[in-house]
This record gives sequence, structure tokens and C-alpha cells, in this order.
Amino acid sequence: MVWRSFWFLGMQLLGGTAGWWLGNLPGALIGVLAGSWLWLAQDSWSASRLLSWLRSSELANAPAQRGLWGEIGQRARRWLRLQSQRTQASDERLNDMLSALQASPNGVVLLDEEGRIEWCNQISNTQFGFDAARDRMQNIGNLVRDPSFSHYLHTQDFSHDLILQGRDSTPGRPVRLSVQLYPYGDGRRLLLARDVTAQEQAEAMRRDFVANVSHEIRTPLTVLVGFVETLQTLQLPDEERARYLTLMAQQSARMQHLVEDLLALSRLEGSPLPGFSQWTSVALLLRQCEDEARGLSVALTRAQNRPHVIEFPDSPPGAALGDIAGAATELQSAFSNLLANALRYTPAGGRVVVRWEKNADGSATFSVQDAGPGIDPAHLSRLTERFYRVDRSRSRDTGGTGLGLAIVKHVLQRHGATLAVRSTVGSGSVFSVTFPAQRLRQAPVLGAAETAS
Ligand code: ADP
Repeated sequence: MVWRSFWFLGMQLLGGTAGWWLGNLPGALIGVLAGSWLWLAQDSWSASRLLSWLRSSELANAPAQRGLWGEIGQRARRWLRLQSQRTQASDERLNDMLSALQASPNGVVLLDEEGRIEWCNQISNTQFGFDAARDRMQNIGNLVRDPSFSHYLHTQDFSHDLILQGRDSTPGRPVRLSVQLYPYGDGRRLLLARDVTAQEQAEAMRRDFVANVSHEIRTPLTVLVGFVETLQTLQLPDEERARYLTLMAQQSARMQHLVEDLLALSRLEGSPLPGFSQWTSVALLLRQCEDEARGLSVALTRAQNRPHVIEFPDSPPGAALGDIAGAATELQSAFSNLLANALRYTPAGGRVVVRWEKNADGSATFSVQDAGPGIDPAHLSRLTERFYRVDRSRSRDTGGTGLGLAIVKHVLQRHGATLAVRSTVGSGSVFSVTFPAQRLRQAPVLGAAETAS
């Protein structure tokens, strides 16, 4: 500022001295005025350069100036640089936050005070069909046409979520979304949408399962309680008493069987997947199955005294049948379940054939063919569902729990194997289990000892 005053006085003095030299006092006055004008012109020019630079707001092209305008320019440049750094940092933060919201597995929509979409992520596109560019500043009430959503928006009670159908929902493949609004800022709202289809299905399955188990247990329990009361209150002849006790034993066995199958299922769900290091001899598995099958057949056909005709592959010497990688107890239970079904559904004296066949691609198939009633194709896809039965009374009469094929399916999944069912109503069924090549091996030395023993 001092320099500026000196510069102004210096210009006046210079003009005055030149004017005095040219024309004494009047010349000096004119010279002072001319000096002042020159200073003012130069000062205005500096100011206008600075102003036009400030207007252009191009940080890099700041005019090189000295004095007051130079300092103002320098300070303005520093301030502008600081501001641009701050803006850049806040832009980066905003982008980071939007990227985080974009990465969210849930649909996220930011709404303004009027309920218009300010921003939405990609998931919300899948869920509702929102397009971040097209639907910006569109009122969400106009885009989500579900009346329950309009009501939700209208009541302004956002303390709970709302279940809506997803955009791609079809009767065959329903998609259920849990939608909730969270107010924030000055009247704005955040909409979060979560896909709860799997959760709802799991919950429905759990409810069905509990209802089924309760029902399955209640029936034999009711019968048992009835018999116990009868035995407690009535003096029955020994023969009658023995008959009641036999029926009670049957009902108890049925409950026991059910509990065992339930435990088997829960063990399968809770235990780690069987690895490739544990090998189970196919010959040994088949031999155990055969022993069990013959025993079961005798028990099932005791009344008729006509056991089934059961055929197993000839046990070749050595380990020609090879080994399967997996848990022996699980494989045994899967094979036994298939065999037990074949025997239970085949009438006394009927033929049941068990095969173990190698396939051209290196896989191998265990199959059980029966001469039972066969299964209508409409039922085939649901056979492995828990408690699914084609013929309820026949299943119960033969001691079925409705869980056998569910156990088989679980075991096979854990071993990378597949189940196929071929059936003709009236003539019987073939249940086949195919193991992939990588689950199989030939083990000549060990297998030979085992099979021979
Ligand atoms: P269950 O204990 O009732 O036999 P499963 O899960 O083993 O239960 O089988 C489910 C249903 O599939 C059975 O109720 C039966 O209707 C049908 N099923 C299974 N195996 C056979 C078979 N070999 N022949 C005819 N129907 C069968």
C-alpha cells in the first residue's frame, strides 16, 4: 500500500516536473494531472487483467503482476487452488461412497424430499427396473405401482419393512423383496431393498418340516397312548394283550425309524463333505447290502412265507468292482435305502435285481430294479422331497418314513453322484446311482484281500 502511494506521488511529481519545465505553473498543474491519469490508466489496466483472469477461472493462466494487484492475484490463486483441491477431495469421497453403495448386495435408492429418485444402484435396476440415468428425478411412487407401496409412502410409517414382488417375479419363480425407507438429512429418504426369496422359502420349508415331523410322530404316539390306556383300564385275555403289545411295538419301531432317519439327515447336513482320501470297497458295500436285503425280505414276507428273488452281481475275485471315494456309512445307507424301497414295494416272491456296471466314460452305475407297482412320471421329480409319498398308506404299511429318498439324494450330492429313476406303472422301477470317474478307482491288491476275506 505504501509502495502504491509512493508510485502515485512519483508519477504526479514526474508529470509536475516535466510540466514546469515546459510551461511553468500551468504546465506543472497539467503535468500533475497527466501523471495522475497515467497512474490511474496503468492501475486500471492491471485491475482489468486480474479481473478477466478471475472471470476465466483458469488457475494456470494467472497474470504475472507486482504490487497490490499482484498480491491480490496471488492470494486469489492460492484460495482458488485450495478450493479446487477441496472440491476434488469431496468429489472423490462422494464417488467412493457411491461406489460402496453400488457394491452393496441390496438395492439402494436415494430419494429427495418430494420422493424423487436422486440416485440408485445397479441392483435396484434388477429388482425394480430403475435406470439411474433415465429415472433420475422421477417420483418413485410413479415407478413402483404396487398399491401397498403407495400406502407405505403415504402413511409415512417407516418403522417396518414392506414385502413386494420383484420385477422378474413369476408364479413359478417368485421373487420377494423386503423394502424399507430410512429418513435422513432434511426430509430425504434412503430406500433399501433386500431379496428375501431364499429366506422366505427356507422359512416355509422349516415350517412344513416341523409340521410334517409333528404329524408323523403324533400318529403312532396317539395309537400308543390309546393302547396303554386300554391295557391300564381293561383286564384283557392274554391273547388280546399280546396282540396289543405287538401293535405297540410296531408303532414304537415306526417312531424309532423316523427319529433315526431325522438324525441321519441332520448328520448329513452338519458334517463336512466326504473327501477323496477315504476309499470304500464296492464289493464290501454290495455284500453288506445283500445281507441286509435278505434279512429284510424275510421279515417283510414272513406272513406269505415267500421271500423275494434277490439277484446281486457275482462277487468276482480281486477288486474287479473297485472302490468309491467317500464315506462308507453314507454310501451304505444310500444303497440300503434304495434296496429297502425295492423290497418294500415289490410283492412277496417278486424279483429284485442289483447291478454294478462300468460305463464307457469311466463312471459307474449302481442300480436296483424291482417288480413293484411303478411310479407315475408326474411324481418322479418330487420323489426326493422330504415326506413326499406317492401312496401314503402303502408307505406306512411297509414301515416307510418318507425320508428314505431324501437321505439318498443328500448322500449322492455329497459324493458328486446322480440319481435317475426309470419306472413303468404296473411293472416296476429302476433306481440308478451314477458315480463320476474321479470318485472311482481300481485297487487290485487291497481289494483282492477284502473280497476274499
Ligand atoms: P418311504 O419311506 O415312504 O418309502 P422314500 O423317501 O423312500 O419314502 O420314498 C418316497 C416315495 O417314493 C415313497 O413313499 C413311494 O411312494 C415312492 N417310492 C420309492 N421307492 C419306490 C419303489 N421302489 N417303487 C415304487 N414307489 C417307490
